[in-house]
Amino acid sequence: ARPDTGIDPARVQALLQRERARYEAAHPRSRALAGRAADHLMFGVPLHWMSDWGTPFALQMAQARGARLTDVDGHERVDFCLGDTGAMFGHSPAPVAQALARQAERGLTTMLAGEDAAVVAQGLAERFGLPQWQFAMTASDANRFVLRWLRAATGRSVLLVFNGCYHGTVDDVFVDLIDGRPVQRPSLLGQVQDLLPHTRVVEFNDLAALETALAPGDVACVLAEPVMTNIGMVLPEPGFWEAAQRLIHRHGSLLVMDETHTLSSGPGGYARAHGIHADAVVVGKALGGGMPCAAYGFSAELAARAVAAKRQAPAGHSGIGTTLTANALAMAAMRATLEHLLRPEVFAPMHARAERLAGLLRGAFARQGVPWCVTQVGARTEFQFCPRPPRHGSAAGAAMDPALEHALHLYLLNRGLLITPFHNMMLVCPDTRDEDLQALADTLEAAVATLRAPA
Ligand code: PMP
Repeated sequence: ARPDTGIDPARVQALLQRERARYEAAHPRSRALAGRAADHLMFGVPLHWMSDWGTPFALQMAQARGARLTDVDGHERVDFCLGDTGAMFGHSPAPVAQALARQAERGLTTMLAGEDAAVVAQGLAERFGLPQWQFAMTASDANRFVLRWLRAATGRSVLLVFNGCYHGTVDDVFVDLIDGRPVQRPSLLGQVQDLLPHTRVVEFNDLAALETALAPGDVACVLAEPVMTNIGMVLPEPGFWEAAQRLIHRHGSLLVMDETHTLSSGPGGYARAHGIHADAVVVGKALGGGMPCAAYGFSAELAARAVAAKRQAPAGHSGIGTTLTANALAMAAMRATLEHLLRPEVFAPMHARAERLAGLLRGAFARQGVPWCVTQVGARTEFQFCPRPPRHGSAAGAAMDPALEHALHLYLLNRGLLITPFHNMMLVCPDTRDEDLQALADTLEAAVATLRAPA
C-alpha cells in the first residue's frame, strides 16, 4: 500500500518523465560510457545495485573532492550521499590521501603486523571504550566475523535483530517480520540455508517482544544499530536502550552495536555518546576515510571468551578473516583517519550543519503542507513520507514510496545535488558549505511545489 504522502501519484509519474528526459539530454557522455560498459559489465555497472539509482542510465563519475563530485559530462554536484557514508569526511580527505601516497611506496600488503596496527587499535580503544580489536575489509565482513566469534564464545546459536535492519551482506540478518511472522527475505539470492532457526527478529522499540525473544536463553547476541538508519531512520525511544541492555544481560546475551553509519554521531559513535555499553562494536565505511577497511572491538570479558573459544577449537580454518585484511594501506588510512578526522572538532561543525539542514527542510515541508517528517542524528538527516518519525521498521517501511523518492532524487540530481538512494538520507561532511544546505532545501521545496501545484 502506498503511504499518504500528500502527493497525487499521477503527478509523480509526470515529474519522473520530465526529469528523465532532462537527465538524458544533459548526460551524453554518461550515456555513451554506460553503453560501452554494458559490453562486459553485467547490469552495465561494476556492482549491480549501482544501476538502481533511478537514472535512465548510470551516472558516470569523473572525480570527487571534498563535498563535490564531477561527472563525465562536466556537471559538478554537491554530494550529500558521500558514498553512503564511506566518504563521510569528504572525498579524498588530505591526511588520508597523503598517508596512502606515502604508504603506496612502502608496501601495500604483507600479511604481517606493524606499528600502525598498534596505534590504530589504541585509538579505537580510547574512542569506543572497548579494549580489544580486530580488523576486516568491510563492515559486512566485520559483522559476519563478530557473529562467528560470539556464537563460538557463548555456545549459543541464535542471532536477534530488529525488523528492517541492514548490516551489510550478512545473510543471517535477512529475516523480516511480515504480519508478525518471521520470513526469510525473498530478495536474498542463492541462499539455500533456512535462516529462520537461528535468527529471531522483533520490532525496534518493542521491549516486551525483545524480552520474549530473549527468554529461551539461546540468543548469542543482539546485533543492532543504535539508531536504525537503513529503512529510513528510526530513533530509539527515551529509555529503550537502558531497558534493552538490562534485558539482554539478564538473559545472558551480548549486545553488538553496529556503528557503521552512526559513526556520524561522533568520534566514538552513537553508543558512546549516549551511554550505551555494548559488548562489541563494529565500525566500517568511513573508518579509513574512504579506503576499504573495518574494525570490531570487544570488551575484555568477551575478548577472553573469544580467545578461549579459539584455543579450544581444533587447528585449522576459523572462517574469520581474509588475506588482505589489515593490509598496510588500510592500516595507514585508518591511522590517518583516527589522528586527523575522528576528532570532536571535525564533527562539531558537521553536526551544526546537519541540524541547520533539518530545520530548513522542516520549514520547507511545512510551507508546502506535506505531511513529511525530518529526523537528524549527528551528521545525517533523513526525511520520511509520514507525519511523525516512525517507531519501528514496519512503520518506516510503510512510509516509503519508491516512485516519489525517485522523482525527487532525480529532480535534485538534475540540479546539482546528490542524495543517498534507496531512502532519503543526506549526510554532510567537513567541506559541505552553508549555501549547499540552502540550495538543497530550496531545490527540494521547488520539487514539492511542482508536485503540489494545481493541475
Ligand atoms: N552495517 C550497517 C549499519 C550498514 O549500513 C552497512 C552498509 N550500508 C553495513 C554494515 C555494511 O557495510 P559494507 O557494505 O561496507 O560492508
